[in-house]
Amino acid sequence: MWQSISKNTKIILISLVALFSILIFSNLEKSPELIGQSEALKLIDSSPVERVLVKEPYVYLYFKDKSIKVPKEAIDTKKLFSLGKVEYYEESTEMMDTIIFVILLTMMFYIFYVMRASRKTQERMIQNQQMEMADNNLGKLNIQAQHSNVNFSDVAGVEGAKEELEEIIDFLKNPTKYREFDISLPKGVLLVGPPGVGKTLIAKAVAGEANVPFFYQSAASFVQIYVGMGAKRVSELFAKAKEMAPSIIFIDEIDAVGKSRGVHNNEEREATLNQLLTEMDGFEESSGVMVIAATNKIEVLDEALLRSGRFDRRVHIPLPDYEERKSIIALNLKSKKHNIDIEKVAKMTIGFNSAALATLINEAALYALRYGNFTITNEDIEAVKDKVLLGKHKIQSFTDEERHIQALYQAAKAVTATWLEVNYEKIGIISSNFIPHHNEILSKTMLENELKVLLAGRIATQTKYGELFTNAKEDIKTAKILAQTIVEEYAMSEEYFSTALHAQRLLSYSEEEVASLLSKMERVVEKVREYLLENESITPTETKGILDEVF
Ligand code: ADP
Repeated sequence: MWQSISKNTKIILISLVALFSILIFSNLEKSPELIGQSEALKLIDSSPVERVLVKEPYVYLYFKDKSIKVPKEAIDTKKLFSLGKVEYYEESTEMMDTIIFVILLTMMFYIFYVMRASRKTQERMIQNQQMEMADNNLGKLNIQAQHSNVNFSDVAGVEGAKEELEEIIDFLKNPTKYREFDISLPKGVLLVGPPGVGKTLIAKAVAGEANVPFFYQSAASFVQIYVGMGAKRVSELFAKAKEMAPSIIFIDEIDAVGKSRGVHNNEEREATLNQLLTEMDGFEESSGVMVIAATNKIEVLDEALLRSGRFDRRVHIPLPDYEERKSIIALNLKSKKHNIDIEKVAKMTIGFNSAALATLINEAALYALRYGNFTITNEDIEAVKDKVLLGKHKIQSFTDEERHIQALYQAAKAVTATWLEVNYEKIGIISSNFIPHHNEILSKTMLENELKVLLAGRIATQTKYGELFTNAKEDIKTAKILAQTIVEEYAMSEEYFSTALHAQRLLSYSEEEVASLLSKMERVVEKVREYLLENESITPTETKGILDEVF
């Protein structure tokens, strides 16, 4: 251990030990034997006193071979001196002691200060070295533009997302055109959806289609151990992207830095987020830099990120439905020899994300090859399906009974939404895709209708099965928040100041209304449920078709 201590620290430690030794030694010297007056006078008579030290309340007498102390009043020291009995006389006062003590203390503080300063300098040197290393890595590894050779033809399904991004591609191809006409596009696009649905792939495809450099950054990699490092990375990333504009910055899992600044404050994350916000505010819409970020939890994002001028455009990418799975499977089989029934595979892979479908096809091909077959068959898919289900991709797979419950749940929502004119793109067995409002003025009726849609599934399943189910969890959560917002924020209840009771009353009232609506719509709901079991998802037009048919 001694070897691991630096030279300076060693010197300081030795000095400290020496200092303490001196102190202890001098204190020892000051503690000779205490004797009475008569004995002391006898000693003085018999041998010469070499040194006298007066230090309240004693007098210290040092003889050639002995030292003693006597109470001060017991001896007339002046007389001793005048008799020539004393060779050296010294008077020590409390003041002197204090001065010595202060000097020692100051020295100790000084030594500590020097020690700390040298340790800090060392730490700073190490930190600088590490920052330099990180900087080097930054230049070499991370902030490097990639050339994307992915195109929209490599992305199957997600037609809605592609359509929404067409405009962005055009802007990246011709930023000057937009500048000339003074048209501003959003600076940022937020891709929202579960993992493995192709968010990264889509961002790459946008870069490929527009033929612009692509900067990939995972937000987690921004947040470093050292405060300030993440912010530095963000500003360098934007600087590089601007240099090479038109270009795309893709920030994966933005929630790693963009989580709302709640209870768990993290200085580094906050500094990084602030830098990101500053950078996004700092460049012109027409500069040609497009920031695309991905997240699967929009609800945890800091409001500042979602505020106007930042990630204005949001594109939702749900799990692929039946039709989408068909095209993803077909795309993955494009360059492989097979006699697979794509429709059958698409049917049995409900809940699979796109990445899991790619894995499924790949595993099936490997399986076929292992048994010497060069054509992939349905049996190969069957053989590896469970392995993929249990693999790294989180797959929501239903039993037959669960599928029936879920189909009824979603059918009731689709019918209620269509009847009450709540906008949605698609409602499917695994996900529902409602169209968000964009800064509109919303009426109380519109908000209550949304509430009713959220409650419809639970009521329909409860009526049919006489039971409550856990699949209502997310909708119930949203409904509670919405009810609270209606009565609290918008004061759309009997009173301006609301309590939990007002929200509860609103929920109960909406529940009754939906129950009565659904009781009249039983046949329609049943038909939509059958449709969902067959096709997995339904659009408003298709639901309307069924409604018109029945009524
Ligand atoms: P995310 O970013 O949403 O987590 P990724 O873009 O990383 O998903 O997708 C992982 C992989 O899954 C891709 O590299 C691709 O092989 C496959 N994949 C995902 N979505 C699609 C899609 N729509 N079409 C074809 N392949 C896809």
